Amino acid sequence: MDSKKKNEGLEAVLSFAEKYAQRTNTYFCSDRSVTAYVLEGLAQHKEELGSPLCPCRYYFDKQIEANSTFWNCPCLPMRERKECHCMLFLTPDNEFSSNSQNFSLSELIQEINNSSN
Ligand code: SF4
Repeated sequence: MDSKKKNEGLEAVLSFAEKYAQRTNTYFCSDRSVTAYVLEGLAQHKEELGSPLCPCRYYFDKQIEANSTFWNCPCLPMRERKECHCMLFLTPDNEFSSNSQNFSLSELIQEINNSSN
């Protein structure tokens, strides 16, 4: 995938995640690399499967799971009970929660590059 298209995909999931965190009163992880890892995985799945399938689970068949929608972000446990096992969206009482609902695209790309080096 060319980098322009990849950045557009990252920007789209980032925008979703920021708005969703604000709407649900949840916060990103204090370890920014965790957030970056999850966002990158969501963007990859959106590109490959057409849906932002949760990147923190093992699937026997990713396309079947994406089609079934249960684990498409925001997944059912998140929508019903604010349970995000990926630690993308954390409630304020979570010990790993920061007080941030923002992440710039440049910071996200930097984090992703750091983790792949
Ligand atoms: Fe999204 Fe649910 Fe995965 Fe959290 S656990 S990243 S809300 S799909």
